[in-house]
Amino acid sequence: MCGIIGYVGKKQAAPILMDGLRKLEYRGYDSAGIAVMASGDTLLSKEVGKLEKLESNIDVDGIKGNVGLGHCRWATHGSVSVENSHPHKDCTGRITIVHNGIIENFDELKEELVRKGHKFKSDTDTEVIAHLLEENSRDDFPRSVYDALQKLDGSYALGILNSDYPGTIIAARKGSPLIVGIGEDGNFIASDIPALLKFTKNVMFLSDGEIAVITKDKIRVIDKNFVDVKKSMVAIQWNAETAEKGGYKHFMLKEINEQPRVIEECIQERITDGDVDLSAEIGMTAEELRSVKRIIFVSCGTSWHAALVGEFMLEELARIPVEVEYASEFRYRDPVIDDDTLVIAISQSGETADTLAAMREAKSKGANILSIVNAKGST
Ligand code: GLU
Repeated sequence: MCGIIGYVGKKQAAPILMDGLRKLEYRGYDSAGIAVMASGDTLLSKEVGKLEKLESNIDVDGIKGNVGLGHCRWATHGSVSVENSHPHKDCTGRITIVHNGIIENFDELKEELVRKGHKFKSDTDTEVIAHLLEENSRDDFPRSVYDALQKLDGSYALGILNSDYPGTIIAARKGSPLIVGIGEDGNFIASDIPALLKFTKNVMFLSDGEIAVITKDKIRVIDKNFVDVKKSMVAIQWNAETAEKGGYKHFMLKEINEQPRVIEECIQERITDGDVDLSAEIGMTAEELRSVKRIIFVSCGTSWHAALVGEFMLEELARIPVEVEYASEFRYRDPVIDDDTLVIAISQSGETADTLAAMREAKSKGANILSIVNAKGST
């Protein structure tokens, strides 16, 4: 799950949104987009791939408007495409949203909304929220948001704009992080502290079920029972650099400490009926998996060390012999591989040349290949 930034204030929103997104890039993403509202219209700019691509396709300084949302996406529902990247709008184009998280019951909600005549433009779980808000829309927009959110199962951090409610961002969270930043020339929302630090160090941490209604000089927070609550402001002590390190002294320490969260997030996205389900990604049937007699990990560097841990785990759990090979050596010898061998390649970038070559070698010898990567869409 990736990143959100939002701004409402006296300054132009677009450059602030781009800056915030850049600070969230380290989390990994496959596409990005911004929405800027001016005189009742909200302009969307979205692009697949790196932020530079989005930036080079739009005139950031030319986009005028003091309210906006930015999002970098890590696709969970729907392919990586411009249509599926955020922000998303409702049928009228007046409601705009960005979302981090997963809506578990999006299928049934979508069916119902389609029956009521809503037209969907994307395959995301997110878009149902925009149409649900449209469907529930009434004069008290925060109340409409609250009512609509009661229908959602799953996790969300949300930024919402409504042309009929100008100069306002509505934020909501459940199970995905979201903070509100209080600045001198305006206020912010963000999924992570680094996105805000250049602009303000004063933040409020939203709790699960809370909704914030944010204008340039006011922040109203409503709790899970739709009662207004007073939140205290916290002054962040980190500077921009330490924030990117999440308060840790070194990136390595941060990454070690992030492991439980990362594993939880990876697994959370892949649970069906209470069980981890990789069937959509694994490309092998249960029968094929059961016929595996031997597993070989191929990888380099830190991935090779990760594979050593994987060896312990797999042998203990699956009782299948596992070997760990340096991809760089594996590719230059004539390894013994047959149809019953499963080769698992590990590469953070998904582009490690030796690992790719080892995979090709194994494939040419008839092995089944799985890969574990941190960069979706890589080779
Ligand atoms: N589930 C949403 C999608 O696939 C949000 C993904 C995210 O958190 O970036 O578009």
